[in-house]
Amino acid sequence: MPPEKISVVIPVYNEEKSIPELYYELSSVLETLGKPYEIIFVDDGSTDNSFALMDDIHSRNKNIKIIRFRRNFGQSSAILAGFDHAEGDVIITMDADLQNDPTDIPRLLNKINEGYDVVSGWRADRKDPFLSKKLPSKLSNWLARKLTGVNIHDFGCTLKAYRGRTLRNIELYGEMHRYIPALIVRKGFRVTEIKVNHNPRKFGETKYGTLRLFHGFLDLINIRFWNQYSERPLHLFGTIGLMQFLLGFLIGLYLLIVKFVYYQSIAERPLLLLAVLLIILGIQFIIFGFMSDILVKLYYTGRKSYEIERYIT
Ligand code: UDP
Ligand code: MG
Repeated sequence: MPPEKISVVIPVYNEEKSIPELYYELSSVLETLGKPYEIIFVDDGSTDNSFALMDDIHSRNKNIKIIRFRRNFGQSSAILAGFDHAEGDVIITMDADLQNDPTDIPRLLNKINEGYDVVSGWRADRKDPFLSKKLPSKLSNWLARKLTGVNIHDFGCTLKAYRGRTLRNIELYGEMHRYIPALIVRKGFRVTEIKVNHNPRKFGETKYGTLRLFHGFLDLINIRFWNQYSERPLHLFGTIGLMQFLLGFLIGLYLLIVKFVYYQSIAERPLLLLAVLLIILGIQFIIFGFMSDILVKLYYTGRKSYEIERYIT
């Protein structure tokens, strides 16, 4: 068997000051592993000198690949492009800003060789501002564990290692790169984590503001929905719809009794309004469920809703 190849995927957006040091540290670590490797820099539409620097490195080391985007498409798209072009049996992602430490890579690889499909880095001693980064991250990681059922501490850490097969057909867009483990676990792969080093940002500045807290929350709900109901949206919308309809129906029944058994007027009762509202909403939810079902059928046309580990004939 040929020795396994390592691919390192690095999204780069205006990180000119970090690139030389990053390359030096990373390539030293990869060379000592003695395995074939490639570093895939994905230039996510940088407007500074990043591309020229990477191009220079490329001319000196044949293990370097560069993917240059026409404009800034975001970190998720950059990582996805890296995955699409990675040839490695193991694929590692890391940030370009020197906040992740390449010397953690051998330990990530050891865990992969223990049989895990994904090894996530955990920045246990994270060197970022408390209020703008660490506190929000604690909250969103807690919520992410609850909603995805994946028990890792640090979804947001880019330093992660993947068995190549886990990333087949993965769908990354928006800011979903943070939840790749959750997307993978859904297919039945094994995830673990190890503590990794973290450095303060030395050069440049963070590309994310505080709005990402809201974005992250919505992404999480989306993943939860997708993991649980993507193949049967009718069950979600239909159940809510049926409950509303039933409640409205019962209230309506009660009002009918009030009117026809007790001969009281029901025209000015707020309950009447509620009953009508619930029945209409209920029916709409159910119809919405059917519509979603049609969309899902279209979505899965030509796609598989399962993942095969082995095929024995
Ligand atoms: N990045 C990118 N495209 C973007 C934003 C960020 O490729 O639109 C890269 C960035 O260059 C860095 C990594 O993604 O290598 C993480 O970004 P950043 O360090 O700003 O995030 P933080 O560490 O503050 O969470
Ligand atoms: Mg950073």
